[in-house]
Amino acid sequence: MKLVQKMIIFILGLIVLLFFIRLVLPSQVDDVTPGIYCEEEILDKADVYYVVPNFEGESISENLEWCSMILDSEKELALHGYEHTYQEFESGDASLKLDNGIEIFEECFGYSPERFKAPNLAINSENKKLVKSQMELDGIFNQVFHKVYHCSDSGVFSNRFVSLF
Ligand SMILES: [Zn+2]
Repeated sequence: MKLVQKMIIFILGLIVLLFFIRLVLPSQVDDVTPGIYCEEEILDKADVYYVVPNFEGESISENLEWCSMILDSEKELALHGYEHTYQEFESGDASLKLDNGIEIFEECFGYSPERFKAPNLAINSENKKLVKSQMELDGIFNQVFHKVYHCSDSGVFSNRFVSLF
C-alpha cells in the first residue's frame, strides 16, 4: 500500500474514533440563561448545562422560577463566564467577575459550580490559574471530545452538525 493510502486510512480511523468518543461522553450545551432562547430538544439532549449567570445584566438568581425549572431537569450544571461578553476572561483580572458569577450561581441553584468554561474559550493565563484554584476548567480538548450544542445555535459548528457527529 502506498504511503498516501496508509495516511488516508489512518486519518479516517481517527475520525471514526473521535465520532465514538463524542457519542459516548456526556454531551453539553453552552449559553444556558433566561435571556437566550434555547430549543427544548437541545436542552433534552444535553447532559451538562453551561450557565451564564448575568447575561445582559439579567441575574439568574433574580429569576427563581427559572432556577427551579433548570434544577428540575436534573442535569449537571456548570458556570459559563459572567456576562458572556467577548473575551471577558481574556483581558485583565477577572477575579471579581468569577466571584460574582459563583455567588449568583449559588443563589440560584443552592450549590457551588464545579466546572467552568470561558466564553469563546478565551481566557488568559492569570485567569486560568484563578479558575483552576477553585474548580475544573474546560478548554479546547473538552470541546473536541464532547458534543457541545449552543442555545440559539450560535456555535462554530451548528447544532445539527453536532447532533450528527
Ligand atoms: Zn458561550
